[in-house]
Amino acid sequence: MFFDRGAREDGSWPAGVPALKIAIIGAGPSGLATAIALMKRLHRPFEAWLVDAEDAPGAFGNGAAGLVPTTEPARDLSVVPERPDDFAEWLKTNWLAGGTVATLCRPQDLHAPRALFRDYVMARFGEVMALRKDVRIRTFRGHVRHVDAGGATPRLIFRDGECADFDHVFVATGFGTAQREAASWQAAHRAAEHLSGLENPPPLTLVGNGPRLAAILLHLRADGFAGDIHIAAASGRLPQPHARPQPGLAFGEPPASRSLQEAFRYVRRECRSAEAREGGQWQAVVDAASARLAIVWRNLPQVERNRYRRHLLRLHRHFSIRLAPDVHRRLAAEIETGRTRFVAPRAPKSADETVIDCREVPSARALAGLLSCDAAALSIDDGGHLAHHGASIPAISVVGAIASSLRPGPFTFAETVRQAYRAVLSATPHGLARTSER
Ligand SMILES: Cc1cc2nc3c(=O)[nH]c(=O)nc-3n(C[C@H](O)[C@H](O)[C@H](O)COP(=O)(O)OP(=O)(O)OC[C@H]3O[C@@H](n4cnc5c(N)ncnc54)[C@H](O)[C@@H]3O)c2cc1C
Repeated sequence: MFFDRGAREDGSWPAGVPALKIAIIGAGPSGLATAIALMKRLHRPFEAWLVDAEDAPGAFGNGAAGLVPTTEPARDLSVVPERPDDFAEWLKTNWLAGGTVATLCRPQDLHAPRALFRDYVMARFGEVMALRKDVRIRTFRGHVRHVDAGGATPRLIFRDGECADFDHVFVATGFGTAQREAASWQAAHRAAEHLSGLENPPPLTLVGNGPRLAAILLHLRADGFAGDIHIAAASGRLPQPHARPQPGLAFGEPPASRSLQEAFRYVRRECRSAEAREGGQWQAVVDAASARLAIVWRNLPQVERNRYRRHLLRLHRHFSIRLAPDVHRRLAAEIETGRTRFVAPRAPKSADETVIDCREVPSARALAGLLSCDAAALSIDDGGHLAHHGASIPAISVVGAIASSLRPGPFTFAETVRQAYRAVLSATPHGLARTSER
């Protein structure tokens, strides 16, 4: 157990009002955003268990990982949906005003170290908890093996055989336990240390093609690791950079058919023609297409959704999640040196080949495994509401990266926060939000 602490251990729950019991599985950014949304929008007493197999809340900002800039600028990292500049304002007040951190750009445009983003999220978490005398939050270390949705209310079954019943469960398991970020950092450090001690070291292979890979690779170099690095990524190219927002974008005629493959071909064509134009940026085309897809998605047949999940989701994710411009520049310069190069993904040829998994792939199968059902029968709407063969699964919501294993997004933190608030507000089967007034 990380800690077991109530907002008010003296228990000032109003007499006669039963407290709801809620579980949030995963204490990453999405789990924390969900806990904040609950405290801000659910106006009745509740006890929430923030359960994580490995990481304490906010651990994504610890150690070397905390020094790396966020992929998104501060203007896109608010935990308060009605105040999009909340993180930028917090940075300005706490770090920039006194000159502790000097910046050449506006705080909104800053890609702050993740440790600062973590501090901001934890600060807002603490502030809202202090206002809720009728809420008890427990953070709990436990590996959830199964979420049983078959009973009157959902039940969590833990790996050690313990179980607990809840009125509502929010699943925020992100990249799962098999692809935990902390494990990638630890393995990379160990491998670099080992290889640096060898006379003729074989290359170090990093598997993946996203922000985690970029952060670990640049950190190893900054730390003095001079050996060859191979990046094993099917796409064979760098993670994508951000571009400046581009207003007034004009598009060609979209395809008349409702085939997703046609739609993606169309987006590719549009990206190429945007890049050919003076100052044109493919990023703006992808963002506009993603917003449109989120609307089309609602009426898309399950068979098309499954096709998207199998064939297009990875590509869509790859082009939607972008690096801070400075990180992208440093990565491009690193490739230029020739010490780091792309290789095709393949199984290690020998036992001494050192391979570090830096992938960030949310797995629909992991989610389906948790619920003991078939991934192809699952769907999630933009409020994180889960359905099986189209029939709603009551009292279970899915938030953040894991939700994007089954639908287009959320790929950005702003989308995750909106989804968390929608999930809280639409979690009505047991009346979670019906009593909410604000
Ligand atoms: C350098 C870098 C910069 C980044 N910048 C941004 C950014 O600007 N914006 C952004 O949105 N994201 C960013 N990310 C990604 C971000 O850190 C998150 O990892 C990602 O958004 C997913 O968050 P999450 O909470 O959904 O999942 P995760 O962070 O993967 O957290 C899920 C948690 O669930 C736990 N868990 C999983 N399965 C179980 C189980 N069965 N039982 C109990 N616990 C379980 C895991 O232990 C984990 O702690 C960045 C990542 C990197 C590496």
